[in-house]
Amino acid sequence: MSQSFEDALSEAAAPVAGEPPYLAGLNPEQREAVLASDGPVLVLAGAGTGKTRVLTTRLAHLLYSRRAYPGQILAVTFTNKAAREMKERIGLLIGGVVEGMQWLGTFHSIGARMLRRHAELAGLKSNFTILDADDQLRLIKQVVAAADLDEKRHPPRQLAALIDRWKNRGWLPADVPNGETYGYAAGKGAILYAAYQQRLAELNAADFGDLLLSTIKVLRENPDVLEEYRRRFVYILVDEYQDTNVAQHQWLKLLAAPRHNICCVGDDDQSIYGWRGAEVDNILSFERDYPGAKVIRLEQNYRSTPEILSAASGLIKENRSRHGKTLHTKAASGSPVAVLSVWDAEEEARQIADELEAMQKRGERLASAAILVRASHQMREFEERFVAVGLPYRVIGGPRFYERQEIRDALAYLRVVAQGDDDLAFERIVNKPKRGIGDKAMQDVQVAARRMGVSLSVAARRLSESDEMTGKARTSLRQLMDGFDRWRAAMTSLPHPDLATLVLEESGYVEMWQADKSVEAEGRLENLKELIRSMDGFENLTGFLEHVSLVMEAEQNETGDKVSIMTLHGAKGLEFDTVFLPGWEEGLFPSQRSMDENGLAGLEEERRLAYVGLTRGKKRVQISHAANRRTHGLWQSALPSRFISELPPGAVELKEGVGGGFGGRAAFAENRWSQSDFSSAYDSPGWRRAQAQVQPGGLRPRPPVIEAQATLVAHSDPEGAGFARGDLVRHAKFGQGRVVHADGNKLTVKFDAAGEKKVIAAFLSRG
Ligand code: ATP
Ligand code: MG
Repeated sequence: MSQSFEDALSEAAAPVAGEPPYLAGLNPEQREAVLASDGPVLVLAGAGTGKTRVLTTRLAHLLYSRRAYPGQILAVTFTNKAAREMKERIGLLIGGVVEGMQWLGTFHSIGARMLRRHAELAGLKSNFTILDADDQLRLIKQVVAAADLDEKRHPPRQLAALIDRWKNRGWLPADVPNGETYGYAAGKGAILYAAYQQRLAELNAADFGDLLLSTIKVLRENPDVLEEYRRRFVYILVDEYQDTNVAQHQWLKLLAAPRHNICCVGDDDQSIYGWRGAEVDNILSFERDYPGAKVIRLEQNYRSTPEILSAASGLIKENRSRHGKTLHTKAASGSPVAVLSVWDAEEEARQIADELEAMQKRGERLASAAILVRASHQMREFEERFVAVGLPYRVIGGPRFYERQEIRDALAYLRVVAQGDDDLAFERIVNKPKRGIGDKAMQDVQVAARRMGVSLSVAARRLSESDEMTGKARTSLRQLMDGFDRWRAAMTSLPHPDLATLVLEESGYVEMWQADKSVEAEGRLENLKELIRSMDGFENLTGFLEHVSLVMEAEQNETGDKVSIMTLHGAKGLEFDTVFLPGWEEGLFPSQRSMDENGLAGLEEERRLAYVGLTRGKKRVQISHAANRRTHGLWQSALPSRFISELPPGAVELKEGVGGGFGGRAAFAENRWSQSDFSSAYDSPGWRRAQAQVQPGGLRPRPPVIEAQATLVAHSDPEGAGFARGDLVRHAKFGQGRVVHADGNKLTVKFDAAGEKKVIAAFLSRG
C-alpha cells in the first residue's frame, strides 16, 4: 500500500496551529535540533536521549516542510535494519509510506549505489561483484603467493587486516606512508596492496573498503560528478557518527560542501568500532570541520530506569578519555541491575531460559528481551538450550545465514550466472557437487585463463571444446558451461527465484545434499529453500546479490514472538525491556585480545561496549558470569569481569545461581584483580569470522597456484592466436603436429603421434 511522496503529504494531518504534529512530545533541545534545518548541527548526547528520534523527526520535518524531496536527502544509518526502521517511522510521522528515499542506508549500501552509477570512472563495469571477507582473503592469498612470499612467515590474513586499515584511513596504494608499509613482508605492503587492487579490477570486483574509497576517488577526480551530488544532496543526516572512520568522514565532507547542511548525531561514550578503524575524533572535531556548527546536548534519558542509568554512568566514569556527560531520567524507579554468578555456561543458559519462561508466564513478550553476548561463540549454548526447551529465539547480527556453506555455494552459482567473470565464485562451485573436475583440470583452466588473459569461465569453455582436456573432466566442464549458458539465457524470462531453483537443481547441487546422509544435510536443504524464499522481495537477481553482499545482518523471519540473541556490537542503537548480559568474565569481557593489542585504549573500548550493553535495557538488566568456561575445547576457571566490580553498589543486586557459582559476593568484593592469564578466552567479531573460515567444510582448499608470477605480469598476446593452417606447432602433451584448421584461438592440429586434436592456441608453441 505504498503511495507517492506527494500523496503522502497531502494526506498527512494538517498542521495544527502552525505546528506540525510530529513536534509534539519533543523536549526543547530535541525540538531545536529538529528545527535547525540549515547549517551544520551536531547532537552529542548519551545513550537513550533521543538522538535517533531527533534524526528521524528531522528527516520527516525536511520532507513535511518541503525543504527537500526524498531523493535530495542523504541519510546514513548504522545498519540496514536501522534504515528500514527509519523509513517506517518517517512514514508514521508524516502519514503514509514515503517512497523514493533512495539515499537512505548504510555507508556501504549508499557507496555501492554511487559506485555502480560511475563504475567505469573507477575502472569497473557496473555489474561489479562485491567481495566479502572470505573472498577477499582468498584473493589476498593469491597475491601473496604470486609474490613468492611464504604464507607462514607472512600470513595473508595480516595483509588483509592492513589493507582494510589503510582503506579505512582513506589511503590508496600510493598514499600509504612508508612506515606503514613495513607492517608486512619487509616493506612490500603497499606493492601488494597495489597488486591486490589490480586483481580486483581484473575480476571486476570491489571489496567493502572500495565502496567508499573508490567513490571518493571518483568524486575527487571528476568535478562534474562531485558537483552533481553536491547539488543533489540538499541535506545530509548521519546516525552513530562516533563510529565513522576516516574514509567515511572524508566522503561526508566532500559531499556536504559547500552548503554544510549536515546533521550528525552520536555519543563518544558509545564508540565501539575502533578495531574497525573508527575514529572517535571525527565527532569531537565536528566544529572544526564545519565552522559555525550548532552543537546540541541532550541530557534526559527516556529509555531506562534510574537504576540502569546509574549502573551505566558509574561504569563509564572509569574511562579516563571521555568528555563527561550527565544523564538524568524522570522514569520511575525499577529493580536494581542483577548480577548472577553461575557454575558454567550451561547453567547460565539454563537460568536465562528459565527466566524467559517465567516472563512468558507473566504474559510478557519474548520479543521484549534480548541476550547480548561479547563473542558470538557464546551464542551456541543459548541456542542449544532454547531448542531443547522449545523457546523461540532469533539470532540477529553477523553474516550467519549467508555465511553457511550451502548458502555460499548457492550464491556462488548465482554470481557466475549474473557475472560470468566472477572467478572466485566459479572456483568455488566448479567441482561442487563432485563432477570429476579435479585440481589437475582446474590448474589447466587457470593456466589457460592466464595465458589467454580471460576469465576462468571463458577459459573453461574453450578448454572443454578442445582436446586439451579429456575424459570426465571435459564432459563435465562442457555440461557445466552449457548449463551456465542456459541459465544466463533464462535470466530474462524466468522470475529470479525460479531461476535459482532451476540452477540449484540442474547443477546437481540440491541432489548432492539429498544424497547426503549426514545430520546437517536436512538443515542445509531447508536453508536453501529459505534462501530462495528470501529472493522474492527483490526486483532481479543482481539486486538480490547486491543486497546479500551488503547485508551483514541475518535476514530471518522477523515475525513471531522470539527472544533475540545478538552481539553487543550488533545491539547498538536498539532497546529492549529486558536485557541479559552473560559472560562478564575477565578475558572474555573485557576481551583479553583487545587489551593485549591495544592496552588501555582497548580496555576503554571494551568498557564503552559494556556501557552500550547496559543502556540497551529499559526496565531490567541482568549481568551474569560463570566460574568455569570452556574455550577452544579446554575448561578454564574464570574470574568475574572487572566491570562488575566497577558498578556502583547501590544500583546492583547480587544473585547466586542454583549451581552455586563461587560466591558472587566474594568476587564482587575482591576488587580489581590483575590481568588473568587465559589468553585464549578472547574473541572479537573479526577474529570470529576468521575462525569460521578455518572450520571444516568452511573453505575448500585452493588448488596450488602454479606459475604464480604470471598473475602479476601483463599478457602480451592475450588470445595467443596467430597460428595459421600449415604451421608447424608443438604441444606439451601431444607433441609435434601441423595446423589443419584455425579459427581464432581454436585450432585443429594433426599431431604426429596423437592424431588429429582440437586444441587452443595458448597451449601451443611454434615447433
Ligand atoms: P542510543 O544512543 O542508544 O542510540 P538514542 O539517543 O538514539 O539512543 P533513541 O533511540 O532515539 O535514543 O530514544 C530512546 C528512547 O526514548 C526511544 O524509545 C524513544 O522513542 C524515546 N524518546 C526519545 N525522546 C523522547 C521524548 N521526547 N519523549 C518520549 N520518549 C522519547
Ligand atoms: Mg540511536
